[in-house]
Amino acid sequence: MLGAAIGDIVGSRFEFANHKSTEFTLFHPHSNYTDDTICTVAVTEWVLKGCQDDLAPILQTWCRRYPNPDGAYGARFSNWIDAEYPAPYGSWGNGSAMRVSAVGWAFDNLPDTLAQAAASAAITHNHPEGIKGAQAVAAVMLWARQGQPKNWIRQAVSSEFGYDLSLSCEQISPDYRFDESCQGTVPQAITAFLEAQDFEHAVRLAVSLGGDSDTLAAITGAMAEAAHPIPQPLREAALAILPRDLAEVLLLAGRVWQGR
Ligand SMILES: [Mg+2]
Repeated sequence: MLGAAIGDIVGSRFEFANHKSTEFTLFHPHSNYTDDTICTVAVTEWVLKGCQDDLAPILQTWCRRYPNPDGAYGARFSNWIDAEYPAPYGSWGNGSAMRVSAVGWAFDNLPDTLAQAAASAAITHNHPEGIKGAQAVAAVMLWARQGQPKNWIRQAVSSEFGYDLSLSCEQISPDYRFDESCQGTVPQAITAFLEAQDFEHAVRLAVSLGGDSDTLAAITGAMAEAAHPIPQPLREAALAILPRDLAEVLLLAGRVWQGR
């Protein structure tokens, strides 16, 4: 979860000004958390409570508490946040994948991981691609936590979810443009995760692809945290930027699932 927040913060200043290189300052005065971190915190709270409560009011509460994040909420999601009776709207946007990371930590088998990832997505993103994007990210995290080699994960993602992972980051980057879909974000994030040597490298690779940089880096950072330790300076830099209530949920989850 903190890995997602770090990716979100690092990627935030590149969302509308892509930077197609791994060379840049990770934390800049313009770096800030966005909707990806807020929604991640909401799902984390829901998972910490055992996935028993209705996620919709939890997500609405956090988003209403932070109504104007950097990068802003999407138009349809904004309407959903404000709705008295929120209903899913068939979205295939990458919002289901960027908020799911707590599910990737909380369960130790694939059926539960896939079921709760689907549940976390379906309150808004009930299009099959929206569900699949959340499931793929959570499954990759489970497999990474189980110590599966990255080559094994690459093949498992392709066979389980059908994503084409044949291109490298270097091949993706030149032609990749802003894409808010799950199907146009999650395979790229998985590619950055698979190529990375460590956590920081994963986030840098994600930014270097371009596109929806904060969300792409948030998804990549979430997966990278499941495979690699987060360097202490990165943890501290992110925690210095996050409001206390957001940070507290992520730190509690770290203690519960990561023994920190
Ligand atoms: Mg964002």
